[in-house]
Amino acid sequence: MAIKQLTETIINQIAAGEVIERPASVVKELVENAIDAGATRIEIVTAGGGKNLIRVTDNGSGIPSNELSLAVSRHCTSKLTDDVHDIRALGFRGEALPSIGSVSRLSVKSRKAEADSGFEISVHGGRMDGPRPTPMNGGTIAEVRDLFFATPARLKFMKTDRAEASAISDVVKRVAIAFPHIRFSIAGSDRTPLDLAATGEGSAGMLERISQVLGKEFPENAIAIDAMRDGVRLTGFAGIPAFNRANSLHQFAYVNGRPVRDKQIWGAIRGAYADVISRDRHPVVVLFLNLDPALVDVNVHPAKADVRFRDPGLVRGLIVGAIREALGQSGIRAATSGAE
Ligand code: ADP
Ligand code: MG
Repeated sequence: MAIKQLTETIINQIAAGEVIERPASVVKELVENAIDAGATRIEIVTAGGGKNLIRVTDNGSGIPSNELSLAVSRHCTSKLTDDVHDIRALGFRGEALPSIGSVSRLSVKSRKAEADSGFEISVHGGRMDGPRPTPMNGGTIAEVRDLFFATPARLKFMKTDRAEASAISDVVKRVAIAFPHIRFSIAGSDRTPLDLAATGEGSAGMLERISQVLGKEFPENAIAIDAMRDGVRLTGFAGIPAFNRANSLHQFAYVNGRPVRDKQIWGAIRGAYADVISRDRHPVVVLFLNLDPALVDVNVHPAKADVRFRDPGLVRGLIVGAIREALGQSGIRAATSGAE
């Protein structure tokens, strides 16, 4: 067969295969966009586990009408300067909206506060339509219907509505921990409602948000961490060993505000608790790493969940040291060895 260039829609569907695995990935991308837009209120509505409907409404900066078609076009982003190593926003690839639009019926309505009207653009299975004026308040409403209707093979891999709805709730909780000043809510027919009120500033606000997500008993079972080494700052909370869980879903790690699932970080946490928690149990931990964006590469995975540190040994040492010190200071002894 002769060599042909792939069509834009096919290219976007291939990208979607990597970025958009399930409804929760759509929610993650849309919520990250709302956060990057400076929203203080993010409302999520879902139906059918997000397979039928996902709507994310924010009160952020909005998109100018003349940029709406760029917003849903591939590799178009307002967040990247010339330096791919200096990434401060959650998004930067300019892939989410075109990917979503290539596999669903996407509508983006947006209005800058100062504009006379809102505008709507839609992308159905990769076909763009608009923008056209639409009445709305300032901010953005991104609505995704019939996710994966254009890629039935992917649709077959979806779990039950209930499982997908619960994955959506987990994603929102995970990102919400890093942004306590934002109010997050989930509503709709999926019956996994969530309403996280905006909290105060600083570490008190952070702890309040963590309690909203992890339960009121978290603060009395956790010790604050605050450590710094060679320009890397680590803050957060280490749960006491007795406050353990059967799985590691209650471990939260953030690098410069970005939720990550990173093997090195999980390994460091395991190492820190190795002497005080039995191997089949998991501590509850929330860690925020802050460092110069140039010292970490967030570009290694399309869903931006993995990171590579310039100096992994430093990060591991910092985490292990800070958690052990926190546990040591509070006089916690090995729970498994029976040492007293
Ligand atoms: P990225 O977030 O990587 O830039 P996206 O495809 O997610 O790529 O979004 C493309 C662009 O559309 C963003 O760079 C931003 O300018 C604009 N955008 C998307 N969602 C919003 C939103 N909720 N509020 C304001 N601007 C948005
Ligand atoms: Mg984005």
